[in-house]
Amino acid sequence: MEKIKMTTPLVEMDGDEMTRILWQMIKDELLLPFIDLKTEYYDLGLEYRNETNDQVTIDSAEATKKYGVAVKCATITPNAARMSEYNLKEMWKSPNGTIRAALDGTVFRTPIIVKGIEPCVKNWEKPITLARHAYGDVYKNTEIKVPGPGKAELVFTGEDGTQIKETIHNFTGSGILQGIHNTDKSITSFAKACFNYALDTKQDLWFATKDTISKKYDHNFKDLFQDIYEKEYEEKFKQAGIEYFYTLIDDAVARVMKAKGGFIWACKNYDGDVMSDMVSSAFGSLAMMTSVLVSPSGVYEYEAAHGTVQRHYYKHLKGEETSTNSVATIFAWTGALRKRGELDGIQELEAFADKLEHATLQTIESGKMTKDLALITSLKEVTVLSSENFIKAIRETYEAM
Ligand code: NAP
Ligand code: MG
Repeated sequence: MEKIKMTTPLVEMDGDEMTRILWQMIKDELLLPFIDLKTEYYDLGLEYRNETNDQVTIDSAEATKKYGVAVKCATITPNAARMSEYNLKEMWKSPNGTIRAALDGTVFRTPIIVKGIEPCVKNWEKPITLARHAYGDVYKNTEIKVPGPGKAELVFTGEDGTQIKETIHNFTGSGILQGIHNTDKSITSFAKACFNYALDTKQDLWFATKDTISKKYDHNFKDLFQDIYEKEYEEKFKQAGIEYFYTLIDDAVARVMKAKGGFIWACKNYDGDVMSDMVSSAFGSLAMMTSVLVSPSGVYEYEAAHGTVQRHYYKHLKGEETSTNSVATIFAWTGALRKRGELDGIQELEAFADKLEHATLQTIESGKMTKDLALITSLKEVTVLSSENFIKAIRETYEAM
């Protein structure tokens, strides 16, 4: 059979540890036999990031802006332990943080629903999609460890020299300080991305912040959303028969637990980080969730929402068998390939992505799965497969289809 041809390269961002092993297996077993895969390769593995003083991460983000679609493997965000493990020159920043800051935009995360894996929350009948603002707040913070007594102030100096000044705290002893920011431009594009996604998928949109406590910062998010909604989207939402609903974050959390699903939950950066892990694991597993960063300029970066699965990697290094779930990483590839197909008008590529996703879900529904799913499935006949044999089983299903 002739391989599917591509015209524009995908930006391929390789990563670390167990997910790097899965990455290669997925390419070898599920992609290269069927596609004349065209990628521009960037090695975001920690060793090479260290070697290039993290330039490779910046280059990969620039390439994404140029070509429009990227697929990213999970990567290590260095901490103190990684400094010595990898003998790092510096505690390099989170690649996700760097890429998101360069591309701006919103991360959409949707659980992958499969028969035999029921959500822990019984009333969740449909997926809940999380829309996470991918710029600013605590991810772009400036922090000070306050050594002792003194006055902390928040100062803004305008271009014309005028100052706005507020006292944060009069310290009587040691403590901590944090400065965070966001921009109206980024919040506006976050809001528009959410409204557009709701219209595209015909789902209600929920948004929540802590505006009762944060009367300027969070309130600004609420006001911008409301303003944009009334000016540009209210009529379209009515026509589509969907709703925009704002509430306090605590109220949203309580309501989500009682809801049926089938809506988009827009969250500020930190809330989205935390809540997407809760939602995905309640739907089954961290590895059963798709994640895509959509930038306001129409650039897409597909990734898995989970990390590099370090514990499994250390087992793998010792020669022990692992049973790591590759579904999220496979769906990152299919998401990127489908989008590339859409943009370049290559229907075979779109059809391939659909079929590979089907084959993946069908494999699980036939009882062949990794350990994380086997522990929670309601299916009776289950075969627990190794990382490698699960990918091979998907290939068999695909070829039989
Ligand atoms: P993790 O890699 O998400 O793994 C945490 C645990 O969740 C695993 O030990 C495993 O549980 C389970 N798990 C996650 N993904 C799984 C999969 N595909 N299949 C089966 N089980 C899975 O988080 P971490 O161990 O806290 O972080 C490891 C590294 O990943 C860190 O260096 C962190 O910086 C990085 N990280 C990267 C990203 C990203 O690039 N997007 C996101 C988060 C973290 P069991 O051990 O119980 O089997
Ligand atoms: Mg996270």
